[in-house]
Amino acid sequence: MSDAPTLLPWLAAPLAQGLSLQAHAVLLHGPGGVGQFELGLAMASGWLCEAADGQPRPCGRCAGCRLMAAHMHPDFHLLLPDLLREPLGWGAAEESVDGDTGAKSAKTKAKPSKEIRVEAVRAAIEWGQKTSSRGGAKVILIHPAQAMNAVAANALLKTLEEPAGQLRLVLTAHDPEALLPTVRSRCQRLRLDLPPAAQALAWLAAQEVARPEVLLAAAGGQPLEALAMAAAGIDSAAWERVPEAVRRGHATALADWPLAQQVDALQKLCHDLMCLRADAAPRYFGAATLAPLMHPRGPQWPALAQWAAELTQAARHDEHPWHAGLRSEALVGQGARLWQTPRSPAPAASGPLDTLGTR
Ligand SMILES: [Zn+2]
Repeated sequence: MSDAPTLLPWLAAPLAQGLSLQAHAVLLHGPGGVGQFELGLAMASGWLCEAADGQPRPCGRCAGCRLMAAHMHPDFHLLLPDLLREPLGWGAAEESVDGDTGAKSAKTKAKPSKEIRVEAVRAAIEWGQKTSSRGGAKVILIHPAQAMNAVAANALLKTLEEPAGQLRLVLTAHDPEALLPTVRSRCQRLRLDLPPAAQALAWLAAQEVARPEVLLAAAGGQPLEALAMAAAGIDSAAWERVPEAVRRGHATALADWPLAQQVDALQKLCHDLMCLRADAAPRYFGAATLAPLMHPRGPQWPALAQWAAELTQAARHDEHPWHAGLRSEALVGQGARLWQTPRSPAPAASGPLDTLGTR
């Protein structure tokens, strides 16, 4: 009756490593689209598994594992920004399904937040001090830890240092340096790296992602990110159309994508064009896709640097409620300028420094 969720294949080794750690608090870090949340859940399941000694944990069959799979384990507490609840399958924002112990939980009716609020952290700490319901460990998973602001993170410090009883904490972060040093220093770190490409490609193919090598490169080697792109309608063909569409100034190629994805794609294109200008291999787009765009009058350094700066600016404001279509056109239009001849071209003999001076 119970079907414990299948572990992502590249997480087996990190899971064994994580379960062997003696620390009360573990910080999972590394690239974001690899499965930090899934690994954190699997570690919690392993600690809460009630299988007999000597059996592999989590077993997927015991009462503890079944409760975890049903998101109802009374000794597991998840701290997640409301915004991530639905995408991660942990209930709608208003439901506040964590802390399903009958104890009070912080119910919020505001619009889904990107933050883990201090009230939620305090409620989790209070929950952690109570006796274990099933007589074993208790686990708090905080994903992602950088969603706690300084006040919320500070509220956690004492618990991180001296957790009550058998309480364990798992924090995730794609950038540990963004956390308070006092939080970092109280956790044992476990780095989750990009999986081997062959393993990631086989997994993506099993998820019915067509030509997974294109999307895996597009996602910088992060398989969950590649799958999310496919789910958002960004397939391999759509990705490969981006460079030529930008050269032509055709924003419609990206217009249906979420704005953050558009900016991300354009930043990756800009990055790859810079690589090619420096005679380095592109990372996110295939060399064959980009080669026709790199003729001698193609993108030059000063224009690339300017576009990169414009895109960085756009990335900071990608949730600004501007009309998305207008934003697409502006961003792609800025990119298309890379292939336009300057109005007053410098003499053919002039070097790149002269061109820099004219902007
Ligand atoms: Zn079990």
